[in-house]
Amino acid sequence: MAEKRDYYEILEVSKNASPEEIKKAYRKVAIKFHPDKNPNDPTAEEKFKEAAEAYEVLSNPEKRQRYDRFGHQGMNGGGGGYGGGSMNMDDIFSQFGDIFGGSPFESFFGGGGGGRGRGGRKGSNLRIKLKLTLAEVANGVEKKIKVNRMVTADGVTFKTCPTCQGQGQIRKVVNTMLGQMVSSSACPSCSGSGKIVDQRPSGVDSSGLKQQEEIISVKIPAGVAEGMQLSMSGKGNEAPNGGIPGDLLIIIEETEDDVLKRDGNNVIYDLHISFVDAVLGTSVEVPTIDGKVKIKIDPGTQGGKILRLKNKGIKELNGYGRGDQLIYVNVWVPTAVTKEEREKLESLRASANFNPNPEKREKGFYERMKEFF
Ligand SMILES: [Zn+2]
Repeated sequence: MAEKRDYYEILEVSKNASPEEIKKAYRKVAIKFHPDKNPNDPTAEEKFKEAAEAYEVLSNPEKRQRYDRFGHQGMNGGGGGYGGGSMNMDDIFSQFGDIFGGSPFESFFGGGGGGRGRGGRKGSNLRIKLKLTLAEVANGVEKKIKVNRMVTADGVTFKTCPTCQGQGQIRKVVNTMLGQMVSSSACPSCSGSGKIVDQRPSGVDSSGLKQQEEIISVKIPAGVAEGMQLSMSGKGNEAPNGGIPGDLLIIIEETEDDVLKRDGNNVIYDLHISFVDAVLGTSVEVPTIDGKVKIKIDPGTQGGKILRLKNKGIKELNGYGRGDQLIYVNVWVPTAVTKEEREKLESLRASANFNPNPEKREKGFYERMKEFF
């Protein structure tokens, strides 16, 4: 980026200019470089932004003082300073439009209050929360959701807006002391759509809209997560006079599963087997997001072992991969035993096979965790 120019120089005022002088100077520069007066001129747009940034600082006593003391350095990251050219047009219009209030120039700023509104008024967005089960998250799902939205009522017809002849914008020529200027803003009759309601059935107001319950089919891709927002363009409220409809925003909520837990794209399942099954081996059924699966427990399985079912996890969002299901093996130790059970176990207590032998053991829990993550 080029060296930043001095704010006083930009507004062509002296260092001890009064707030009134600064305001007047900004108005003059802003009009000179206004984008409506200089269409397709990037230099003018840059200058317009530059002036807005200078005014933003010099019109604020605290920021002005800091700028006087430290120059541009004082403004960077100094709480609300604009880091150089990051101010966009909408910021400028929303922040400073009112300084033109009551002057012949107010039309440049949408008449004050209405914002720029050049593109016309869009219908409002609708927000809906959608609960999904783990299986739906894992594989993706198509859901039908009920929404109450504003739509153009049946029987409503439109005609070209007579105020703007269908342009959606009106251009005004204003005579100012700086010469003739043309400004354009959204047409007030049609809110920028270029059409107005021609015929409407009784009970429908002049916007042509009515509220309607609709069932909308939504394709949820696999791999979404809690809090994600999907947007369906144009499925929000329709705009008055057949304008651009808003969007439908769908916010994902995950319902917690009782047995399967999500960990990223993996699914975790806690398996409990008996001490006897751990020693002698067995086969057990475990739940997965695709239904039950039979797995083999090898003889001599240690507690804490992690078994992996490849590709039984959650599909990657926008990808081709899929997570795994991890099965944590817990060996169930009885908390109470009968007299006969006790006798059998006592007879095994002394047996060498039943005593821990770290040399012969499989990998410990810590090492297995390292392997997996
Ligand atoms: Zn119009």
